Amino acid sequence: MKEGWETVIGLEIHAQLSTESKIFCGCSTRFGDEPNANTCPVCLGLPGALPVLNERAVELGARAALALNLEINERSIFARKNYFYPDLPKGYQISQYDQPFSERGELEIMTAERDEGGHPRQWRPVRVRITRLHLEEDAGKNVHEGLPEVERYSYIDLNRAGTPLAEIVTEPDFRSSWEAYDYVNYVRRALQWVGASEADMEKGNLRCEANVSVRRKGDTAFGTKVELKNLNSVRFMQRAIEYEIERQINLIESGGRVTQETRLWDERAQETRVMRSKEEAHDYRYFPEPDLQPLVVSRDFIERVRESMPELPEARRKRMMEEYQLSFSDASQLTGERALADYYEQAAKASGNPRGAANWLRSELLRELETSGKDISSSPVSPEELAALVRLIDQGAISGKQGKDVLVEMFATGKGAAAIVEERGLSQVSDQSAIDAVIDEVISASPQQLAQYRAGKETLFGFFVGQVMKASKGKANPKIVNERLREKLSQQG
Ligand SMILES: [Zn+2]
Repeated sequence: MKEGWETVIGLEIHAQLSTESKIFCGCSTRFGDEPNANTCPVCLGLPGALPVLNERAVELGARAALALNLEINERSIFARKNYFYPDLPKGYQISQYDQPFSERGELEIMTAERDEGGHPRQWRPVRVRITRLHLEEDAGKNVHEGLPEVERYSYIDLNRAGTPLAEIVTEPDFRSSWEAYDYVNYVRRALQWVGASEADMEKGNLRCEANVSVRRKGDTAFGTKVELKNLNSVRFMQRAIEYEIERQINLIESGGRVTQETRLWDERAQETRVMRSKEEAHDYRYFPEPDLQPLVVSRDFIERVRESMPELPEARRKRMMEEYQLSFSDASQLTGERALADYYEQAAKASGNPRGAANWLRSELLRELETSGKDISSSPVSPEELAALVRLIDQGAISGKQGKDVLVEMFATGKGAAAIVEERGLSQVSDQSAIDAVIDEVISASPQQLAQYRAGKETLFGFFVGQVMKASKGKANPKIVNERLREKLSQQG
């Protein structure tokens, strides 16, 4: 970011709510079915068909709103947003306009700028205001690939038409691309956490758009904003914003002016391109949807939803940091998804060593999971068994190094830690008198080295450790070997 400039970013997120049927009809929302298999007169927009609101969509919308700290309005209005596009059979989208489902959210999120390698520098809290979260239906899809004579025909798949969405709009509160990045990840995790949405950008059930402008530091008026679309991952969005900031600053510094327009991110070319200018912008002619009653939700309903919510991710992160003495980065990773946090807390409690459990989970088990393409909920190693492994190491029954091998075998075979240690005869010798006996043997067999060591050649200490480990076939507890050796070697013979 150039000296003397400030960036202003606002974000819009569309998240598909995880209902089984569409928002205004009973058609399935299943992904990947035959094109147009899941359609009916309502979502095809046939004359005379009437929408009926799906209660489950309202409930999931409420979960999403509460997870993002918004206030739910007891009364909201559906409105028609009129525009013509082939994937919109009715010629309008049922959305909400001046009386949305929920408003006035405020979040504190953790954010950090990243260095060139993408590593976070300093984490700090930042406040973000969410203007609104409203409910609406999705449009269908134009299909341009994989069908006969695509150069002559346009194909339309309306399976997605009528799928419920939550649109989440922020105030222009972000000052850098990384703040925007951390916010979208925050929202994604929160929606998944409470079961409101799968929030998977690759599947298209979470989409985002960014409004970006720049101004000189100290200016209070906003610069002309550009809308960025086609941001297919959070990382793409971050890169697109970064590119756009630089483009706008260079444009203004070279005497040009930023035009209000919509631009698309081209990941291959790593640049944004004009999609449409302001002159082509739509006038949506919103008006209240005459086929639907105002949406009225009772305080009671809102409270019921609130009570059914799990402890939210940020609250859980803070609690876990205190309760288990975890660092910010440990606790953040372990609350990356709910199943992982659940797994961790079970293992932490069963092991009696919360930090040890965190280390083994983060550095060893998660790597095994990633390599095998499994997620935590299908881990072949249960939290209780990970805890058993941590206990064996803490008790000195096996070394940490042996523990790593044991975990790999637990993962591959599904066997318990104790069973593998037993089978492989791994048990570490921690019995001091047994270790003392080996040390005595080694010392009496190496009089020359002993004399040199006592004459001041301290590097020979390693030689003795090696001999003792060899004599014990690697089973002696290295910590005890070190302690005992030091004592015995310094004794005047
Ligand atoms: Zn339908």
